[in-house]
Amino acid sequence: MAHKNDLFTNVIEQIDKANRILKLEAGIVEILKQPQRELIVSLPIKMDDGRVRVFEGFRVQHNYARGPTKGGIRYHSELSLDDVRALAAWMTWKCAVVNIPYGGAMGGVICDPSTMTSRELERLTRRYAYMILPLIGPEKDIPAPDVSTNAQTMAWFMDTFSMFQGYSVPGVVTGKPVSLGGSKGRTESTGNGLMFVAREALKHKGISMDSASCAVQGFGNVGSHAALFMHQKGSKVVAISDLSGGIFNPDGIDLPAAFDYVKTGKSGLIKGFEKLQNGCTFVKGAAAATKQLLELPVDVLIPAALEHQITGENADRIKAKVIVEGADGPTTSEADEILFKKGVFVVPDILANAGGVTVSYFEWVQDLQAHFWSEHEVRVKLRDVMVAAFENVLELSKKHDVDMRTAASCIALKRVADAITMRGIFP
Ligand code: NAD
Repeated sequence: MAHKNDLFTNVIEQIDKANRILKLEAGIVEILKQPQRELIVSLPIKMDDGRVRVFEGFRVQHNYARGPTKGGIRYHSELSLDDVRALAAWMTWKCAVVNIPYGGAMGGVICDPSTMTSRELERLTRRYAYMILPLIGPEKDIPAPDVSTNAQTMAWFMDTFSMFQGYSVPGVVTGKPVSLGGSKGRTESTGNGLMFVAREALKHKGISMDSASCAVQGFGNVGSHAALFMHQKGSKVVAISDLSGGIFNPDGIDLPAAFDYVKTGKSGLIKGFEKLQNGCTFVKGAAAATKQLLELPVDVLIPAALEHQITGENADRIKAKVIVEGADGPTTSEADEILFKKGVFVVPDILANAGGVTVSYFEWVQDLQAHFWSEHEVRVKLRDVMVAAFENVLELSKKHDVDMRTAASCIALKRVADAITMRGIFP
């Protein structure tokens, strides 16, 4: 289970920390620390040049006490079973924090999608869907997009599943194209939810949204939408970054222009945008840009790339007043302690980025009812869920004088523990 990131160790540390307050029964804690089901699959794929390559994939269901499991599918060259276990556990907590009736799952394939053609990715997705088919279904486990997967991936997945059923099953995945039963507002939902909680966090710190400065690491689905929503609400986004590097402008980046540049550009990266707007500078390379961006003196920092970006090594140099975690697991336990002592207000991943799974839940509800909502309806319902969850977590963090992550973990663990206790232990 050992891995360079050791993400699952983080999960265990967070459970233990929350349980110092909750004092759950030892047997229940033991259940929460183990994924309930794991599947490792081997995927032979015929590449476009005729060669056969074999990829490894996973699906982990962490806990289904509160309902079917739900979680993303990630394509990444450095994915490991340990990562997938941790991400599945965080999905369990995430669904419980916003109180939607799901457990947590996660899956993915070890591959580098940037070196694969669309046809190769389609074959990989269909073979992966076929191999994990026994675990998946609208009442069992419902995948969604994550890093390097998108609405197209979900469409291939849904089609493959439907072929084996003999009829269309839109509710088997979320994050689908709207034309296949996807929900309006789903693509931007994680970024939208981040903005709602950032607004609450700033209010709590006495900072007005329309005078706040903001930096966003990662400019993919989550980061780009979060940055755009922050900009729309009047915040000044002074830095954005991705795999190519970072764009910096102390006077504020023209976000709609940067967003269009990335969405319509061939590479899908932000490099080159600095040439289109006066006052922007470019720092080449993800590592150099990350270092500079994370340490900026901004009101809000949104890490929305990958895990373990804020660590014991750099936490002391963080100058942001509020951190709203777009990525899953961007802060290590060691960094958490340092940030709490420094008075940095961290809105944890399991609350901050839960907007995605919340609208995924809305999508699933719409699919099951075959009745679809307007974008306005989705957005208002999302705002209500996010604001209520934020208020619950803040209240508990004040009550016990703990950081927001520990408070959010307490709420989540208690809800899952209650479900396990009420159901009883089978047989
Ligand atoms: P994505 O693939 O769309 O985007 C990832 C972005 O991060 C890209 O811009 C990429 O260039 C950038 N990036 C990768 N490595 C980087 C590095 N070392 N430094 C700087 N930038 C880097 O993925 P996404 O869907 O936006 O997911 C981002 C994070 O948010 C992940 O941790 C994911 O688990 C989490 N998340 C996603 C959703 C969702 O709805 N997509 C929901 C909840 C949480």
